[in-house]
Amino acid sequence: MNIPLVDLKAQYKSIKNYADNKVNEVLSSASYIMGKDVIEFEKEAQDYLGVKHAISVGNGTDALVVALMALGIGKGDEVITTPFTFFATAESISFIGATPVFVDVEKDTYNIDPSKIEEKITEKTKAIMPVHIFGQPAKMDEIKKIAKKHKLKVIEDAAQAFGSEYKGKKVGSIGDVGCFSFFPTKNLGCAGDGGMITTSDDNIATIVKALRTHGSGENGQKAYNLLNNINEEVKISEDHDDTVYNPLKYYNYLIGFNTRLDTIQAALLRVKMNYIDEWNKIRRENARIYDENLKDTSLTLPVTIDEGKSVYNMYVVQSNDREKFVNRLKEKGISTGIYYPVPMHLQKVYKNLGYKEGDMPVAEYLSHRTFAIPVFPELTNEQKEYIIYSIKEIDK
Ligand SMILES: *Cc1c(COP(=O)(O)O)cnc(C)c1O
Repeated sequence: MNIPLVDLKAQYKSIKNYADNKVNEVLSSASYIMGKDVIEFEKEAQDYLGVKHAISVGNGTDALVVALMALGIGKGDEVITTPFTFFATAESISFIGATPVFVDVEKDTYNIDPSKIEEKITEKTKAIMPVHIFGQPAKMDEIKKIAKKHKLKVIEDAAQAFGSEYKGKKVGSIGDVGCFSFFPTKNLGCAGDGGMITTSDDNIATIVKALRTHGSGENGQKAYNLLNNINEEVKISEDHDDTVYNPLKYYNYLIGFNTRLDTIQAALLRVKMNYIDEWNKIRRENARIYDENLKDTSLTLPVTIDEGKSVYNMYVVQSNDREKFVNRLKEKGISTGIYYPVPMHLQKVYKNLGYKEGDMPVAEYLSHRTFAIPVFPELTNEQKEYIIYSIKEIDK
């Protein structure tokens, strides 16, 4: 039996007609940039996540970069984050000229350890960027309390956690800004790159919208005033929608980006939004089945905090003998993934930050032990049974 880590073909098959029709409609409409589906998708995401603004962008990395810039963070600033994440988290901080300051993670939840944050705060610290790793919400109350005390912003990296909840609230709606990725293998993914920034702050939203499109037009002018503390009203134009024919398009106020979500991707995401609750529910159910059936093996299973509801973007276990499990599962046709083999503070590119082995003992420990097994919603009962059976056999 061959089981991939994520089966994108099975997912496509399950929505093929619906998805094909919607994508074809966009092709026929020829409204490829900022078309109706983009606007509608943003509204639907806003309602779903419980935020005032959901602003789609080109990918999750851009979402993080633009969010940091919109908060006015840049050269000389420090941003606290986790070393146990995908590189884009730290990269976005470095890209805008700030310095990522790593705080070790918790052994059981894989998320940033709030009890270790305060000792890393300096005069230069501007924000905390927790990651809801593998779909599991970080301890947001503790993080927000520290942020409030030290007047720091909170940027949630929710790239792996569309629909995850913390105390009944969707992640991405808890900090000052939330960032999502729609990379195809994320639990909500499109057919290419895509991303989104969420916030309930009108000013942040205005700056994000301006940066998304070359800092131009009405949003650009408003964003310029906001970032430079200029108190002057910006005249609202008659035609203030952001279409290709916007007459304000060629007036620029900021150095921004071209980072928009394609209309085709938005149309596809709107189709998938109809299934996301169901898919997330099945992911949780699959995780429960693994929890129950693998509890007597030598593997350490993932732990969810009581206040949280994970979407299990990945089901990540730990073993002293990871190599044996990964290799033998591969022989049996079962794909696994190692997340993450090198913690951020030990990445070559960050040599200049001066970290050494032993600085983040938990992240380092996990980086030698963790691997993900398939948990995607399209897994059949037969596949799940085969995965459980195989792990138990290897464990003998
Ligand atoms: C995927 C991911 C990103 C980046 O998203 P892209 O859409 O690939 O740019 C950022 N942070 C985390 C934690 C991710 O998993």
